[in-house]
Amino acid sequence: MQVFKFGGASVKDAAAVENVGVIIKKFLEKPTVVVISAMAKTTNKLEELVNAFFYKNGDLTTILNELKSFHFLILEELIPDKNKTIYTDLENAFVELQWAVEEEPSYSYNYHYDQIVSMGELFSTKIISAYLNDIGVQNIWADARGIIQTDNTYREGKVDYTLTDALVNTQLLPALKQNGLVITQGFVGGTSENYTTTLGREGSDYTASLLAYFLNAEKVVIWKDVAGVLNADPKYFKNTKKIDELTYHDAIELTYYGASVIHPKTIKPLQNKLIPLYVKSFLNPAESGTVIKDSDSRLAIPGYIFKTNQILISIQPKDFSFIAEENLSLIFSILSKHGVKVNLMQNSAISFSICIDDEPLKMEGLIEELQNQFKILYNREVQLMTIRNYDNETVSKLSENKTILLEQRSRNTHQMVLKI
Ligand code: ASP
Ligand code: MG
Repeated sequence: MQVFKFGGASVKDAAAVENVGVIIKKFLEKPTVVVISAMAKTTNKLEELVNAFFYKNGDLTTILNELKSFHFLILEELIPDKNKTIYTDLENAFVELQWAVEEEPSYSYNYHYDQIVSMGELFSTKIISAYLNDIGVQNIWADARGIIQTDNTYREGKVDYTLTDALVNTQLLPALKQNGLVITQGFVGGTSENYTTTLGREGSDYTASLLAYFLNAEKVVIWKDVAGVLNADPKYFKNTKKIDELTYHDAIELTYYGASVIHPKTIKPLQNKLIPLYVKSFLNPAESGTVIKDSDSRLAIPGYIFKTNQILISIQPKDFSFIAEENLSLIFSILSKHGVKVNLMQNSAISFSICIDDEPLKMEGLIEELQNQFKILYNREVQLMTIRNYDNETVSKLSENKTILLEQRSRNTHQMVLKI
């Protein structure tokens, strides 16, 4: 049993989908589950659609037509015969999307977001499943909304392990027995009331890992447009190196601090069942890529993770009292209420500092609420540099010509909040 995951870049156009077909044919060992994301930047487009619908800040028809023609063009290239049922299938899926934006928004933004944005994965998997069947790679399309069960935390669905386990057994396993190749959507789930949820942006990796967990798969392969996990993001660093082997621990630390190669939630289910994760290039599928598994080999070279667009907030009690249990618990409850993930924190006697992603809308609400209780100072547009397996030379090189606003080091990890 293996689980493959193909992201948006690997299915960005017809040629890319054909390449996915080649890879599946070549590496198919039945049973295989293939988890697929929305095509190219469809999720971003769908986010525009949600905003146009909810905030009335864009033209719904234009965006809908763009989405529709993008997908139909790919379909026509892959399956020229318009009599095939996929054409009506895809048409119907777009009718569903049309309906989702027809009435006035009546629930929360996040609820509508999930009903609309999840459609991207529906379109992509329908097209790809039909294409594979068309070229003789017989497969069954499965609806992830009826398998991955979550609570109703829209946009960040919390997976219910008991329910999902049962559904994997009653829905997914029989399909796999019947065919040996199942195509399903990443990123989406469903609630017990049959509403659609999503697992957070870039969540398809997480879907693949969850399915592998419940299926007790032998391995997961994430097919990417890079050679594997690199020791730094080539966007920011020259001379990056591919890491051949990573422990679950190093992988979780690197992804948690922002290495965007895999979603941070991907590692835990795999570690829990010691399922190895391969990160391989869909451009050079014969190359070995990176394997993340249970091993003693610690990261041999420093790994750098650079996060831009950070805000450093310093929180001080107004009456000069210490940062102690009561203040901390109040601060954390405010952070949790606003759904803030802390990238780094540090405290002194009367000040508590956090470095977090600067998401303007979220920050407004957060800062306002913190200001009611505390004195707040903040620095925007700062960068967070995390070095896993650091040495002093790299630390000083990376902080050259920059002001270090805050610094923290443990035995393995060095972090700096930098201002240019
Ligand atoms: N399509 C979703 C996104 O772009 C999920 C994923 O790609 O993993 O966020
Ligand atoms: Mg994506």
